[in-house]
Order: sequence, then C-alpha cells, then structure tokens
Amino acid sequence: MSVVVMKFGGTSVEDPAAISRTAGIVAGRIALGKHPVVVVSALAKVTDQLLRAASAAASGDRTGALAISSRLRCRHRDTACALLKDSGAIVTLIDQKFDSLDEILRGLAAILELTPRISDLVVSFGERISSRIVAAAFRERGVEAAHVDARDIIVTDSQFQKAIPQDAIIDKRAQEKLRPLLEQGKVPVMGGFIASNIDGITTTLGRGGSDFTGALVGGALTADAIEIWTDVDGIMTCDPRMCSEALRVKVISFEEAAELAYFGAKVLHPATILPAVKKNIPVLVLNSKNPTNEGTRIISLAPHCKSPFKSIAVKKKLSIIDVVASRMLMTHGYLSEIFAIFDKHQCPVDMVSTSEVSVSLTVDSNEKLPAIAADLSKHADVKYEGKKALVCMVGEDIRGQSGIAAQVFAAIRHINVRMISQGASEINMSFMIEEEDAEEAVRSLHTAFFQNPDPLVFDVEAQKKQLLASSS
Ligand code: ADP
Ligand code: ASP
Ligand code: MG
Repeated sequence: MSVVVMKFGGTSVEDPAAISRTAGIVAGRIALGKHPVVVVSALAKVTDQLLRAASAAASGDRTGALAISSRLRCRHRDTACALLKDSGAIVTLIDQKFDSLDEILRGLAAILELTPRISDLVVSFGERISSRIVAAAFRERGVEAAHVDARDIIVTDSQFQKAIPQDAIIDKRAQEKLRPLLEQGKVPVMGGFIASNIDGITTTLGRGGSDFTGALVGGALTADAIEIWTDVDGIMTCDPRMCSEALRVKVISFEEAAELAYFGAKVLHPATILPAVKKNIPVLVLNSKNPTNEGTRIISLAPHCKSPFKSIAVKKKLSIIDVVASRMLMTHGYLSEIFAIFDKHQCPVDMVSTSEVSVSLTVDSNEKLPAIAADLSKHADVKYEGKKALVCMVGEDIRGQSGIAAQVFAAIRHINVRMISQGASEINMSFMIEEEDAEEAVRSLHTAFFQNPDPLVFDVEAQKKQLLASSS
C-alpha cells in the first residue's frame, strides 16, 4: 500500500475555495492509486486570533475576547455553509466547540491568569474545528474522509506549547487507529499541531507544528512520501516576501533543509525533517495554489550543485547578550556555568562567539532575557540588545571551498555585522545584523550568489520567464 501524508497549511484551507482545491488535490493522489492521510492546520490566521482572545481574556478584557471568538465562530460557520449542501450537523458541532471555547475565555477573564496548559487548550480549537470542516467537505466531494482526533494519535510529554512527541506510542497509535482506516480505503483527516500527553491533556507541538505532525504520521506509517502543501512553489532561494527574485530550489538535502528551517525559513517547521530522516522518507514541499508545479524534493543525498549556496534563511526578533568577565573567562567550567543559566530558563541559544574576555550569545526569547541577565550578572557584566536578525546561508557545496566567506562579506560590505559563525555544521555560514538591515542583506546576497543558478538544482525556467515579463 502506497501511503502518502499530505499536510495542508493554513492558507491551503483558508476559505471555501481553498478547501475545495485541497479536496481536488487529494482526489488526484487517490486517482494515482495512493492512500493519503491528510493533516490540516487551522484556517489561516486563526491560531493568532485564538492566542489574542486568550490573552485578552486573561488580562480582563472579557468583551474583547468574546468578540474575537464570535468573529471566528461566524467565519467557521460561513465556511462550512459555503462548502456543504447540508451543513446542519457541522454547524451544530461548530457551535458546541465555540460554546466551550467561550466558557474557557470567561473562566480566564475571571481568574486573570493564562497558563501554558490553558493556552494550548484554547489554540487547539483551530485545528479541531478546521479538520472537521475539511473532512465533511471532502466527503461531499467524493473523497471518503474519516475524521480522526489528532490527540488520540500524537502523544507527547507535558511541556505545553512545545511538547516533545513520544515516538513509540505514536507509532503504536498510528498502526491501531490509522492503518485500519487506510485498509478500508478511507482517507484519515486530522488536525496538525495539536496533541495530548499520556493523560489525555491537550498539548501542542509549537507554532508551525502541523508540518511536524505530518512528518510524525509519515514516519509512524513508513509513508512513501510526506507532502507539505503551502502557499509558495517550494523551498525558495530566500523568503519570496523578502526578495521577489527568489527561485525555487528543485532538490535539497535533509541536512540543508533542516538547517534552513532551524535558522528561520518558515516554510518548514524545524523538527519536520527528523522523522523523515529516520526512515529515509522523501519530503516534498508543494504549492496548493499551483498544484502542477513539481515543488521541492528533500532527500538524503542532494546532487552536487555548481552554486555554493542553496538558500538564505533569516531569523528576526533575536537578541544578543554579551557576557564580559575579564578575570574568570576561559577558566575551567566557566562556559558551562553560563550555559547552565540558559538551561535553567529553558532558553535555547542560537549562536555563540567567544573572545579572551567575553562571550556573546544570541537567543530568540525576549521575555526571558531580564531574568537570564539577572542570573548572569552574578558571574559577570552583562549587556543585551534586541532587534537583531540572523542571516544564514546554507549549502553543502561550501564544504572545502575557499574564498566563499570573502564573497559573502563583500556582498554585504555596506552592512554592519555583529557576530559571525561558520563551521558547526560545515554547510552554513551565519551572521548577525540589525533587524532593519535584513531585507537589504538578503537582496544583496541573492544578487551575488543566484545570478547564474545551476539548472540541475534551481528552477531557472521560472527565472527566465520572470525576467521576460519584467522587461516587456
Ligand atoms: P503554512 O501555513 O502552509 O504552513 P507558512 O506561512 O508556515 O505556511 O510557510 C510558508 C511561508 O514561508 C511562505 O509564504 C514564505 O513567505 C515563507 N518562507 C520563508 N522562507 C522561505 C523559503 N526559503 N522558501 C519558501 N518560503 C519561505
Ligand atoms: N496553526 C498552527 C500555527 O499557526 C500550526 C500550523 O499551522 O502549523 O502555528
Ligand atoms: Mg507553516
């Protein structure tokens, strides 16, 4: 049986037209003899709005929170009504879900506190409802969908908002609950992002986590492919929102894609690659608005490429912390003490750079910074600054090539660089700049490195068409 996991992001299910298109894409896979498992995100922007409702409620704005919920109720009802001839049952279900959401919001407004656990419960409504609407819309369009509550399959630990999946239990649950549906010719449809701990309490896999759900399910069922359907033609040479000349990367290695995702390319959740690597399952990134495009294929061994880099990622809203200690630095155990403090605050560090007297680190958690700085200042002088961006250039072909760093920094010679890192993975070159310089840096680097792209790896045809269109 050829199982394919198809994950559709928020924009792929944003409105009735998008959901209908999604049904057509899934039907196309069935016509090819494939057995899809469908993972869907919440309708576009719903997660943000649910989070806003939760924090409004917890800060005492009961009316504001309920108004957001009421707008979301209307949007989901309208979507279901536009998609279904007989929408009675699903509208009742939507109303029940929003009634319980409203109850939670009223509770939050009474106790004036939002815990990570309740935040996960509130955001879970997005995927719980979208997956129901999508399953019903599929059935009406001839796709035999069976709704599955993702929380019965994806079991995690209890780290709310960024829970860690428990692979062995997920494998077992997927075999018990998804495999039989596939054998009956059904298409399981489940929400991404949401999960539960072993006691059945709702958790989530972190923002953008639906990709991760898709990969976990793909890994558990040893799928033939994991398809990530989104709103761009695949992994591009940079975020197309930053530089309109971005090119589609046709093929990229697991390692390169993981590095890009970790360093900010939002197109893929950073953990997506892991389950696929374990079982060597290809991951495809595809465009639900342009489904005939071949997208990006992520595989274990990427072909050799003439250009040193495959893509440029940017992570914004970072802070740099400088720890200066003239006496103690480089004494035994000093760095581990510093890292122990970040560990205590559960704050991951992105980049580190040391000198004789100081250590600079970058983190993406602004709220934890004052507490971390207070702890660090017991050991050294501490300064921190926000509004920084990390630019990360990724490509397997920089290994062993000389002169690449000189080309990178020549391309951005007009921009002030705060920290530089290369070497950790041998396939990335990263540096830290002011956030306001990020767009300019990406455009300059793109011009420097993607003028003559290798047609084996990049969609050069699309670039030619774009050039023709802009010159005519
Ligand atoms: P979805 O809702 O489908 O999960 P996301 O918004 O999470 O979609 O991810 C898709 C977005 O990722 C694109 O619209 C694009 O702006 C952004 N993006 C960032 N870097 C890249 C890149 N290198 N290639 C493609 N898209 C990128
Ligand atoms: N809906 C969730 C989010 O917006 C998960 C996802 O879409 O991947 O973060
Ligand atoms: Mg996403």
